[in-house]
Amino acid sequence: MTLVSGWGRFPVVDSDVLRPRSFAAVGEAVSGGTVARGNGRAYGDAAIGTVRTVAMTAFDRVRSFDPATGRIRLEAGTLLSDLIETFGPRGFLPFVVPGTRFVSVGGAIAADVHGKNHHGEGGFGRYVDSILLRTGQGEVIEASREQNSDAFFATIGGMGLTGVILEATMRLRPAETGWIRERVISASDLDAAMRALEASDSATYSVAWIDCVARGRDLGRSLIYLGEHAQTDELAEGAAAFPAGKDPGLSVPIDLPSMTLNRYSIRAFNELYYRRGARRAGGSRVVSLYPYFFPLDSLKDWNRIYGKRGFLQHQCVIPQPNARDVLGDILERVARRGDASFLAVLKKLGQGDGILSFPLPGYTLALDFPVKGDILNFLDEIDRLVVAAGGRLYLAKDARQSRATFAAGYPALQRFNAIRKSLDPAGNIRSKLSQRLFDEV
Ligand SMILES: Cc1cc2nc3c(=O)[nH]c(=O)nc-3n(C[C@H](O)[C@H](O)[C@H](O)COP(=O)(O)OP(=O)(O)OC[C@H]3O[C@@H](n4cnc5c(N)ncnc54)[C@H](O)[C@@H]3O)c2cc1C
Repeated sequence: MTLVSGWGRFPVVDSDVLRPRSFAAVGEAVSGGTVARGNGRAYGDAAIGTVRTVAMTAFDRVRSFDPATGRIRLEAGTLLSDLIETFGPRGFLPFVVPGTRFVSVGGAIAADVHGKNHHGEGGFGRYVDSILLRTGQGEVIEASREQNSDAFFATIGGMGLTGVILEATMRLRPAETGWIRERVISASDLDAAMRALEASDSATYSVAWIDCVARGRDLGRSLIYLGEHAQTDELAEGAAAFPAGKDPGLSVPIDLPSMTLNRYSIRAFNELYYRRGARRAGGSRVVSLYPYFFPLDSLKDWNRIYGKRGFLQHQCVIPQPNARDVLGDILERVARRGDASFLAVLKKLGQGDGILSFPLPGYTLALDFPVKGDILNFLDEIDRLVVAAGGRLYLAKDARQSRATFAAGYPALQRFNAIRKSLDPAGNIRSKLSQRLFDEV
């Protein structure tokens, strides 16, 4: 057995980690209590099998690529970072990228990840045409919108619970350059931030970074980053059309003592960050896609900042009509405690595509908290607000929500369970997350 955790390093649990090198070996690895693992960037317990975990990153080959259409067939362990570095210089990028590029295609499909363009362009699954799936009962099936469509829509956002994705065919976006024209808007409070996001609906990319320790009339003050793909003629003279993807430079070499993060250090950091960003507000500039899409990737192992006990990310989405009041209430409670992470992220989402996809039309708020004190009780309190507003929590970030919160947020759960059962009647595919939230015990 090996001790395994997600990116948040909570919980840490035992599971046998297998690293198969062939699809036949993947098949042999799947038996009672197995789930696939991509690059381990889900925060909680989604990518940990109750008995064994099948690591998929050895499967990173591209099977075919059509430069006329950007259609690609690849193995599910391929990382988005490799895809960007290989196909970016040829004029193609993924349509959707999450806040880190170190995720696998399989993980991106299983979580139906959203990027800064979900409000207009949807999630990762929208650009997947078909998948090769090894189901829990041992079949290998091709699933698409037309063929085995139940399996297809259950796998997009299905958190690995329909089987192991072996390969995928997807579409890439033509992109003349690897640069983004970024415009920063500074918003003095939550109303201003939400107004700015509403007014920026036609922007391809938009995201707000909220200072979640600001209180009173500063509650919800934010920097909003809008982005468009830059054309060649917008680049600085001599700039390469595609910027180099630097490896993370600095890294966090040790687990920092948990007291490093306290309300004073967080407040000081946020103040500095907000003031620096506010100075840039108004104008636009052309930036490399790397800092625009993946600002956190520049600090390797940043999850160690939270110390040995790890951290929790709470990411909810609140349907549009209730969003302002409920988010205001949540931020007020969070600011009063003062121990949430440096910056919270606020994004506008559209409709999700998979049966269990997280997005729904509304606003999503993501907050990080160190694991300590009464944090679990506090997050239960926030969950009650989310449920009452008809919202839900993101499974890829979750390590602790209750079954009741989960069931209330995902009304299509019964349909998902029926499809899952038909693909895996014996219940071979089981993760720590499914044990906690789905499975009969
Ligand atoms: C810094 C950071 C920023 C992030 N930003 C965003 C964001 O902006 N938007 C967003 O949506 N998410 C975001 N995430 C979450 C991340 O994109 C998802 O958790 C994603 O699923 C991680 O991919 P992975 O390859 O690491 O998968 P893992 O974490 O290894 O697994 C995640 C899930 O996918 C399943 N899975 C993985 N591979 C396969 C496979 N081959 N077949 C079947 N199932 C599989 C696992 O069983 C598990 O349920 C962020 C995470 C980090 C650490």
